[in-house]
Amino acid sequence: MVWNKTVCIVTIRAHAQISLKALQHNLQRVRQLASGAEIMCVIKANAYGHGLLQVAEVLADADALAVANLDEASRLRSHLANKIPDKKIVILQGVLTQDELTFVCKQNLDIVVHNEQQLQLIEDAQFLSSTPLSVWLKVDTGMHRLGFSPDKVDGVVSRLQQCSHDVTIRMMSHFANADDPSDPLTENQFILFSQVTAQYEFQKSIANSAGIAGVIDCSMDWVRPGIMLYGVNPFIGMEQENIDLLPVMTLSATVISIQQRTKGDAIGYGGTWVCPEDMPIAVISIGYGDGYPRHAETDTPVLVNGNRCPLVGRVSMDMICVDVREAGLVKIGDEVILWGNGLPVEVVAHHSNTIAYELLCKVTPRVLREYT
Ligand SMILES: *Cc1c(COP(=O)(O)O)cnc(C)c1O
Repeated sequence: MVWNKTVCIVTIRAHAQISLKALQHNLQRVRQLASGAEIMCVIKANAYGHGLLQVAEVLADADALAVANLDEASRLRSHLANKIPDKKIVILQGVLTQDELTFVCKQNLDIVVHNEQQLQLIEDAQFLSSTPLSVWLKVDTGMHRLGFSPDKVDGVVSRLQQCSHDVTIRMMSHFANADDPSDPLTENQFILFSQVTAQYEFQKSIANSAGIAGVIDCSMDWVRPGIMLYGVNPFIGMEQENIDLLPVMTLSATVISIQQRTKGDAIGYGGTWVCPEDMPIAVISIGYGDGYPRHAETDTPVLVNGNRCPLVGRVSMDMICVDVREAGLVKIGDEVILWGNGLPVEVVAHHSNTIAYELLCKVTPRVLREYT
């Protein structure tokens, strides 16, 4: 950044404004939907691109925070050490080595246990006979990614109970297709999980965002919201449906050039889009180097001074081109919103052949995050 004495003289080209108020609102919405279940807020992958530590502070009064791996968990533990040292932190992938397991115990982190190797690490750790350990036993009910198959569960429980006199076991599973409300797999997974775990008094959890917002009540003892905390409708293709969530991230950039083009001019790399008439084209200071998806197709909407205008031609590393025929008077320096307030990120994801999760996670460090 370029500074003139103490004043930054550079206009930041791409901003992500993160509304902590919207985040709080969405957590409140989860509470309403979760029928009294405890809430584990999922803040893996830098809180879906929103900033791990900043988001954790706002969500700190949730019952637990979940991250993917030990690196994220340990940063979170250190950051919260002064304010909420006992905060429950769950590592969704669990541990890989004996050293990691030792670290987890020292830091009082919860781990998911999803395979035989992890179970053996726990069995081999001598110190565990006297150390408390909190595990989430993962059952594979149809996702076929992580977890013990249902017929293994009884054996795993008794082995865990032999390892430590102070082991707390909880049971979890994960939905594969809950984002499609018409897929019967979701209910089948829930039924299978209920059956497999019925004989145990342990706390149970299966619902991600789509499970929480869906029609079957699968809240059980714990829910695990991720994407809905960030204001995204968890059901695919339903971005217009209002389930009373507020977008947390608003990604914006600036008009850096506006030029009158002539009918027949080809715009940008590859010349994939040709002006159908004489018309103004605005160039906006954001591209795939900032995390705006390169695969966003022509006609992906952007908001120029609040007006929906179509992107035209290919996305460059640092810029996109926009047809501003419908935008009224546009000047250099005007604000352009790529997603967030007034334009759901789901819409941009749909035009980019991906999902909102990916777009949010991929906002790069070049983009200045501002917390309001
Ligand atoms: C990421 C994740 C979640 C959150 O999923 P969303 O669809 O973002 O709500 C919940 N549980 C597990 C195990 C996860 O990995």
